[in-house]
Amino acid sequence: MTDPRFPDSSSAAITGEEAHVAHNYHPLPVVVAEGDGSWVTDVEGKRYLDLLSAYSALNFGHRHPTLVAAVTEQLGRITLTSRAFHNDRLGAFAEALAELAGKDMVLPMNTGAEAVETGIKVARAWAYRVKGVAEGRAKIIVASGNFHGRTTTIVGFSDDPQARDGFGPFAPGFEIVPYGDAAALAAAIDDDTAAVLLEPIQGEAGVVIPPEGYLRAVRDACTAANVLFIADEIQSGLGRVGTTFACEREGVVPDLYLLGKALGGGILPVSAVVGDREVLGVIHPGEHGSTFGGNPLAAAVGLAVVDLLATGDLQRRALALGDHLRSRLETLVGSGVTAIRVAGLWAGVDIDPARGTGREVAEKLLAQGVLVKDTHGQTIRMAPPLVIRATEIDWAVAQLRLALTD
Ligand SMILES: *Cc1c(COP(=O)(O)O)cnc(C)c1O
Repeated sequence: MTDPRFPDSSSAAITGEEAHVAHNYHPLPVVVAEGDGSWVTDVEGKRYLDLLSAYSALNFGHRHPTLVAAVTEQLGRITLTSRAFHNDRLGAFAEALAELAGKDMVLPMNTGAEAVETGIKVARAWAYRVKGVAEGRAKIIVASGNFHGRTTTIVGFSDDPQARDGFGPFAPGFEIVPYGDAAALAAAIDDDTAAVLLEPIQGEAGVVIPPEGYLRAVRDACTAANVLFIADEIQSGLGRVGTTFACEREGVVPDLYLLGKALGGGILPVSAVVGDREVLGVIHPGEHGSTFGGNPLAAAVGLAVVDLLATGDLQRRALALGDHLRSRLETLVGSGVTAIRVAGLWAGVDIDPARGTGREVAEKLLAQGVLVKDTHGQTIRMAPPLVIRATEIDWAVAQLRLALTD
């Protein structure tokens, strides 16, 4: 029901959502109507600096002109063919993405969770058909604190009770080891192990950065035991940490990259598994698919995204601005902030419980015109668009200081 006095008011919009949208989220009380670059505007005309970027799906900001142009042009040609036929956009997108990743092939999907599911299927097929694991025995090793999406298979290997409790029974074939502990991971590998599936930096957990050398040790353990290393770079990849992939921070190349979020430029859901022919080539026609995966509209925006990243400019920008963000956030440690973790333009900020919860700080920041999201109680996560300016970072951190003091 619309309140006739405020046909566009945020309270009417919020009431409508509360009444008719399942309560699977607890949004901050703002109703966004427009977005441009690093800024959004609510239905009452108030502007906010967006430091969440839709969990890194908006790495290039809202409505990046190059991406909007690519989509608009494609809307005038064709949007969907299904993979029953070829389309004249998918090949170019896949070639460019494979080249960006230094791999041979791409398997296009839509959401991040679908890319993860695809990675699991590919790893199991590889284990049975290439490695020689006995049918039905393939094991995949994952890490504590992981977040890989919301399907029943994926939440089955989460250790977050909120994500998993009440949704079983779960698929077998996964083993959880402590994140950041390379020895525990190596010890868990056995003859039936198909793959290790990890986030190189754990976003949802609160931007948790593993100890230096961990990714290298994981890579080495996988190589030594003939196990695939699958890097879930859905949130960490595509420029966020100042390199194209977070694995590059340790000079590590996984066997499969799982990509999503920013791959669709904040316009469409576009995800992909990227790997070499020896691995992705195990999938044959009819064994896996998606009605929308690889559609020409998604391919057009995906290609434009890859083109934006191919120069390396945005990655360099994220690296430099990330140093700037870190230096500003460091001034808050001990003044309402207990710890920060920063990688490129990505920060987990732990709030001193004496100053309130992460949610309370996020609500104060909202009132001050800054959008962030809390995670796990005391942490707020910052992932500004890579197009943000240094002066905007300064302003945002000043607002955070204010939110922590009043
Ligand atoms: C967001 C996310 C996913 C799931 O992506 P969806 O598009 O929401 O399905 C998977 N892995 C990681 C690391 C993510 O951050």
